[in-house]
Amino acid sequence: MIETFTYEALPIRVRFGRGTIAEAGAEVARLGASRALVLTTPQQAGEGERLGSLLGPAFAGLFSGATMHTPVAVTQEAILALHAAGADCVVSLGGGSTTGLGKALALRTGVRQLCIPTTYAGSEMTPILGETRDGRKTTIRSLDVLPEAVIYDVDLTVGLPPALSATSGVNAIAHAVEALYAKDRNPVISLMAQDAIRTLSSALPILVHEPDNMEARGMALHGAWLAGCCLGAVGMALHHKLCHTLGGTFDLPHAETHTIVLPHAVAYNAPAAPEAMAAITRAIGAPDAAQGLFDLVRVLGVPRALKDIGMPAEGIETAADLAAENPYWNPRPVTRDGVRDLIARAYAGERPG
Ligand code: NAD
Repeated sequence: MIETFTYEALPIRVRFGRGTIAEAGAEVARLGASRALVLTTPQQAGEGERLGSLLGPAFAGLFSGATMHTPVAVTQEAILALHAAGADCVVSLGGGSTTGLGKALALRTGVRQLCIPTTYAGSEMTPILGETRDGRKTTIRSLDVLPEAVIYDVDLTVGLPPALSATSGVNAIAHAVEALYAKDRNPVISLMAQDAIRTLSSALPILVHEPDNMEARGMALHGAWLAGCCLGAVGMALHHKLCHTLGGTFDLPHAETHTIVLPHAVAYNAPAAPEAMAAITRAIGAPDAAQGLFDLVRVLGVPRALKDIGMPAEGIETAADLAAENPYWNPRPVTRDGVRDLIARAYAGERPG
């Protein structure tokens, strides 16, 4: 059968390797910029200063106030810092939270972005921005927030603690899994998705025991890049919508929530997406996609129950109502009873049904 599909490539320049952070100055110049405001979280301010030394005269200053959920109030502070420093580009050094701040600045000021990711979240490859204002999260999709250039430096991920490496890595696997059954899936992204799942599921069990195994670090970051491409290119479904609802409603940590929910969302969608399930089983080397992903999370030794990361028991009903309330595309129709059962299992940390 001849498939019908659309494939659109996003215009991002990617440099990948070890020690590639040394090329940040050249990449800033390539953007046509000469004064870079470096963005980090408070925890990564020291790395931001070191990057500043590498940038030399192109270093306009450091804004180290990036934080979770990209609050608009923080973006407004950063805009003042951008203008005060006379910066003509931003360099975001960090995880999805820092990348989010860079995107929020690009949206409001048109400033160009170089991203240097240090987790596996994949935001650097997407035209998506999630922001919060007065506790309410809104998500937009626009080429205006897409970074112009990305430097992946495997050396920068060595300091990512084992548990965060594991959960951030499963967060990346989730992008690739949902790309395989996306409504707008296409052959290029499906290839990337399978390779992302294969490399990440091989590397993560090594990294939790040997966080400085460079071969595994390289595979994980490579997989995270591919998974980010998947997230940026095609629409996500039940898993991402549910994690968004759970995270927003109960203030749960992003990567951990994804890690716990993924096997259950895959079990729910399995009957309606046999080709995607076959691709996942091949990529992880297990006979069943959902059970194989659950076993991967077990091997990683990270939380498997939403109750262990702060979700209240009464939240099961609330989350089921919210998940069934707003209709969206999913390979299998989302029913309240079905999603309630899924959330209850994830809450308790049971095997997917
Ligand atoms: P994060 O950016 O919040 O980082 C978590 C913590 O780890 C921070 O304190 C950070 O400074 C620290 N950290 C990051 N890299 C480190 C390293 N190498 N060594 C030591 N510490 C390090 O976490 P995240 O999971 O990368 O990002 C989550 C956020 O990104 C969420 O808000 C999510 O919604 C967003 N996100 C957005 C997209 C998108 O396409 N818009 C995609 C994925 C995630």
